[in-house]
Amino acid sequence: MRVRLSGQSVHNELVRRVEEYSGQDLMACYQCGKCAAGCPVAFAMDMLPSQVIRFVQLGLVDRLLDSKTIWLCAACQTCYTRCPKGVDLSRIMEALREIVMFEKGSYINYDAISPRDVMEWPQQAFIGGFRKYAV
Ligand code: SF4
Ligand code: SF4
Repeated sequence: MRVRLSGQSVHNELVRRVEEYSGQDLMACYQCGKCAAGCPVAFAMDMLPSQVIRFVQLGLVDRLLDSKTIWLCAACQTCYTRCPKGVDLSRIMEALREIVMFEKGSYINYDAISPRDVMEWPQQAFIGGFRKYAV
């Protein structure tokens, strides 16, 4: 893949939004790969966690927005505990999901949830689902 880099392209609007929403120092990552090596969901991802942050560093956020990885991340924070630079990738994944949902809307149809569902579904399902699939 050929990438043309410039100061403007690596600090574009989407990169600034990822930085703002995640609160992470994106340039701290030096690509050691410890996050990807420890991620329990990496086997199912189409991009490894270390690749996700590399793409962000290169200003290629638009190429991440169709990735399965940002939705598969379980926010378990294994990567955060392993990262020698203290990068919390789960926050970066969340920021990327937010960018998608600000464009396309939440993935939860609140009107389709009946009072009976509210009574019967585990509270964790609501909290986890709303946190991940709604803005
Ligand atoms: S563990 Fe941290 S420094 Fe290493 S590749 Fe992952 S995010 Fe980057
Ligand atoms: S927080 Fe996400 S990216 Fe990090 S180890 Fe867990 S599932 Fe993988």
